[in-house]
Amino acid sequence: MKRKTLLLITLLLGLLVQSQNRYHLKAKRVFDGQNMQENWSVHIDGNTIVYAGPSKTFRNSETIDFGDNTLLPGLIEGHSHILLHPYNETSWNDQVLKESYGERAARAVNHLKASLYAGITTMRDLGSEGAGYLDVGMKDAVEKGVIEGPRLLVAGPAIVATGSYGPKGFHEFVKVPLGAEEADGVNLPTVTRRQIGNGADFIKVYADYRWGPGRTAKPTFSEEEIRTIVETAKSSGRVTVAHASTAEAMKRAINAGVTTIEHGDGATAEVFDLMVAKGVALCPTIAASYSISQYTGWNKDKDPEPARVVNKKRSFKLALERGVKISFGGDVGVFPHGENVLELELMVEYGMDKLEALRSATSVNAALFQLDKLGQLKNGFLADIIVVKGDPSRNISDLRAVEFVMKDGKIVKR
Ligand SMILES: [Zn+2]
Repeated sequence: MKRKTLLLITLLLGLLVQSQNRYHLKAKRVFDGQNMQENWSVHIDGNTIVYAGPSKTFRNSETIDFGDNTLLPGLIEGHSHILLHPYNETSWNDQVLKESYGERAARAVNHLKASLYAGITTMRDLGSEGAGYLDVGMKDAVEKGVIEGPRLLVAGPAIVATGSYGPKGFHEFVKVPLGAEEADGVNLPTVTRRQIGNGADFIKVYADYRWGPGRTAKPTFSEEEIRTIVETAKSSGRVTVAHASTAEAMKRAINAGVTTIEHGDGATAEVFDLMVAKGVALCPTIAASYSISQYTGWNKDKDPEPARVVNKKRSFKLALERGVKISFGGDVGVFPHGENVLELELMVEYGMDKLEALRSATSVNAALFQLDKLGQLKNGFLADIIVVKGDPSRNISDLRAVEFVMKDGKIVKR
């Protein structure tokens, strides 16, 4: 008798454990990473999507019906800085010079949680900005379940040409921590390899920076130097991405083989055509220009748009016209973590189709970042799923109303 009871309890517990890892999610709308579908359901077993299609019934699973809301793949942020916080709180210089690693790591813990609860389940972080390899440590902590956060792809310190990057304004004998690692010429393979060895998932290079007369943006590395970085990273199976605002630096980086251009403000039609020809995507970081302009005095409700904003609008529209692939990435950290959707709102405001914007934040970024099991709700894909109120294909700001977040088959927010 006792044995029978024990057997029954074991069986029941087994069923319970099984159903805990099996979910059947339904909603009026399901964005599958490509298109908006009506009345679909998604079935999850463990950390994997085992069905996504017209609604049907599944047994031995917990059904959650989200009604008149929208299911989507977890969003993939393409350009974050988890080790930075908004510059209107503390200037970039003061963050790099005065905040300890302890403080910066503590802030990053909060930033990661805010991102995940905002529906960002994967994030490409574009440089630790003076915090060494803290990004690698943060990624490890998320993977070990020590802290909550999105899946991370991290750059480590990033590579800058000697003399180009900040903080600046000190005399030659004052040693200050730099926002990135300096390297040039023959030293480039060593620095690239060291960054890889220390945990960088990809390499970020600053192809230009504001080191010209009057702090104008000017190219830094030669095309050959960037190619050295790209080839060194490539042999380890990693890609290189470039910060570039000037047409010349963009051209050098594109020809050298980078996969994405970050910012791209000064691009010409010729440069965008070159990007299309070489399959290079643009991560426009519109929200950064929009936020920095406001920090420096622009009242968006009554003042005319400042040159920085006018130019960003121009370059983004031109990129769309020329058919450049757009990677969703706002440079979040410059503005508050968790406000990532601001970039998507601006992409739409500046002329992008809403469904295209949704694709950019899911399947397009997944493909660009070589994440072959993410960015789509599809049989065999990883169960990173969010639910938002309303219909973001009609009103992109509906992405701000996150009702539910699942990462790797586990419910994070409900
Ligand atoms: Zn950035």
